[in-house]
Amino acid sequence: MVIPNISDEFMRMALRELEQAAYHHEQWAEKLHGTLVCRAVPDEMDLRADAHCQCRFGQWYYQTGSIALKNHPGFLEIGIEHERMHKCAAHLLRSLTDGRVVARADYERFVGALKRMNLEMSSVRDELQRALFNLDPLTGAPSRIGMLSALREQQEFVRRSHVCVVAMLDLDHFKSVNDNYGHLVGDTVLVEVARWIMARLRPYDKIYRYGGEEFLISLPDTDAATGGEILNRFIEGIAALPFTAEGKAGFSVTASVGLADLHPHLPVERSIERADRALYLAKAQGRNRVVTWDAVMDEMPAGPEKSA
Ligand code: GH3
Ligand code: MG
Ligand code: MG
Repeated sequence: MVIPNISDEFMRMALRELEQAAYHHEQWAEKLHGTLVCRAVPDEMDLRADAHCQCRFGQWYYQTGSIALKNHPGFLEIGIEHERMHKCAAHLLRSLTDGRVVARADYERFVGALKRMNLEMSSVRDELQRALFNLDPLTGAPSRIGMLSALREQQEFVRRSHVCVVAMLDLDHFKSVNDNYGHLVGDTVLVEVARWIMARLRPYDKIYRYGGEEFLISLPDTDAATGGEILNRFIEGIAALPFTAEGKAGFSVTASVGLADLHPHLPVERSIERADRALYLAKAQGRNRVVTWDAVMDEMPAGPEKSA
């Protein structure tokens, strides 16, 4: 999955826009086929060199095109095929206006580009729909549904000499946030923290809502030392987030993190357990800190059972 770490609102917006743009494009293609079959007078716009920017789809793609998807490889491919298709269409239409017979090879080139563009659009749409389906409804972060399979995929890269760390991040004394400010304010804190983290992840990093106030983050191509630096910046940032509750003084929250390398050969669940063990120690050592798993931790008494 290469959908960036964007909020569910942005994802829904991107899906809506893409569907709308696909509809406009279908209409354009129908009209073009009509012109070719009926040997009608072509639309001047379709003969222009910048026709791909002028059609309704192009106006959306190049001017207001979904901000959320602008770096998505599939979205970029849509643009490439769309431009290619317009060039082929202009060539076909020129044959028509010149009174020549449309060459079969030219027509096939046009249809090929059209099909590839439609395929790219369907796969981006499908990816967005799947991502939306797997989102946690409260925080907008992905739920645990696809987590293990994504980590197993990641492990394949780790086996080919790439590194990856997994971090278990848990908010400190979150129960007292609910007790002091109410469950709804607690919900807002969870949403804000998740969004804050998501906005700072690289496109290929992943975050999952693992449990109530617990998030699992995977950072590919990152060793434990760098992962520690990144997560330290995260917990500093989280601690600086200002929260308010009606009739109460502003407050802040802190988070603790357990970190472990994603082991190339052990089941991914073991790496998660290691991060969890390190998290237990981070809590025991006073919270608001990052602790990296070490083999000696396996000799220590296990932490309280984590709910799955
Ligand atoms: P620790 O520092 O040891 O992690 O303490 P804690 O209070 O954060 O941990 P504990 O596991 O005792 O409590 C977690 C709390 O998180 C309890 C639960 O009510 C709350 N929680 C879990 N999910 C949600 C949620 O979706 N919304 C809100 N508001 N609270 C939640
Ligand atoms: Mg907690
Ligand atoms: Mg917890």
